Parts: sequence; structure tokens; C-alpha cells
Amino acid sequence: MNTYKEKLFLGYRNFISGKAKLQRDLYQDLIINGQKPKIMVICCSDSRVNPSDIFNVKPGDIFEHQNVANIVPSVDSLGSSYGTLAAVEYAVMALKVEVIIVIGHEACGGIKGCLDGMGYNASGYVGKWVSVFNEVREKLIQQHIPKEKLQIEMELEGVRQSLRNLMTYKFVEEAVNSGQLELLGSHFSVSNRELSIMNSNGEFKSLK
Ligand SMILES: [Zn+2]
Repeated sequence: MNTYKEKLFLGYRNFISGKAKLQRDLYQDLIINGQKPKIMVICCSDSRVNPSDIFNVKPGDIFEHQNVANIVPSVDSLGSSYGTLAAVEYAVMALKVEVIIVIGHEACGGIKGCLDGMGYNASGYVGKWVSVFNEVREKLIQQHIPKEKLQIEMELEGVRQSLRNLMTYKFVEEAVNSGQLELLGSHFSVSNRELSIMNSNGEFKSLK
């Protein structure tokens, strides 16, 4: 018996007899009237970062895109990875979301891989993907940040860079400049469940 498969199936049965029963009308409405989320979340694939839990939202409330290390590549560093761009384009152009929030997080393995130089030894796809942040890595290393602070500083700078990169997408730049769209940076500290939001100076302040 595959216990992980059983865990999934059992979880689904609990869902269908519990939460899904209570939300039956909501699910039907989302199909009849379509989804109209006004918030897009871009966060890491990491299993410890769950936007629906963090923001306590229902199905239909947020449009999510998850990838390794919550990276938004700039238009010039896309290569052939259109997944993130496609999700952002759909969110902004079709759904007309009013907020895009990028969430970095504590102990991000993708960020650690980039710091360890994985982006220069890109034999695997994780390395190729995190190489998008090689320049961010170099910039931080040149600042002689103490070793124990490098991981968190890179997690925060990764969020700042993803926000800058979002602005290289013309339709995002236009939506932001016309006031239809706001970009937010944030960081989730998993160990104490603390969400920090980036202010206009690029500093992260706790929402707690
Ligand atoms: Zn991560």
C-alpha cells in the first residue's frame, strides 16, 4: 500500500464530506459566474508556504503561481521559461487583478542553492532556474554581509528583484503606472508564522 497515496485519497474524502460540503454553493457559483480573483500571489513551491492558509482565503479569492524560490525572471532573462510570464499575463490582462504579492520565505532551498553557486553549475534545471538570481547573489556577496545573514538578505533581495523584474513586463508597467495594479513584496518567516511587508524604501516590516 502506498501510504502517501492513501493520505491524499483520505484527505480528499475528508474534504468532500467536510469543507467542500459547507462550500458547495461557493464552488457552484465559481463555475456559473467564473473566477474573479483580484489578488495574485507569487510564492515558492516550498511545502511550508501555503498562501490560502497564510491569508485565510476561500477558493476563488487568489490566483496563485508557485515556482522554485518565487522568482520572476525579467523579460531579458526569460530564456524559454514562459510559465511565470504566462501566469502574470493571464492575471493582469484577463483577470485584471489589482494586487500582485510576491512572497519570499525563511529557509528557502532555491535561494540557498543560488547562494551556494548552483546557478553557475547549471547541470540540472533547478540550477538553470536559480541562475536568474546570479546577479543578485553577486551584488550581495560584494557587500560583505556576515555569513549568517546572507540567506535572509538574499531571500529579501530576491523579492525586491522579482518586483523589479515584474516591471519589465510592459503590461505590468502600464497597469502599475495607470493605478490599476499594485505590486507588493513580502517575506514569510515559517518558524514564527510572521509575514512582513515591504515598504517603499524596500524595508520589510512585520504585519503581526
Ligand atoms: Zn523556497
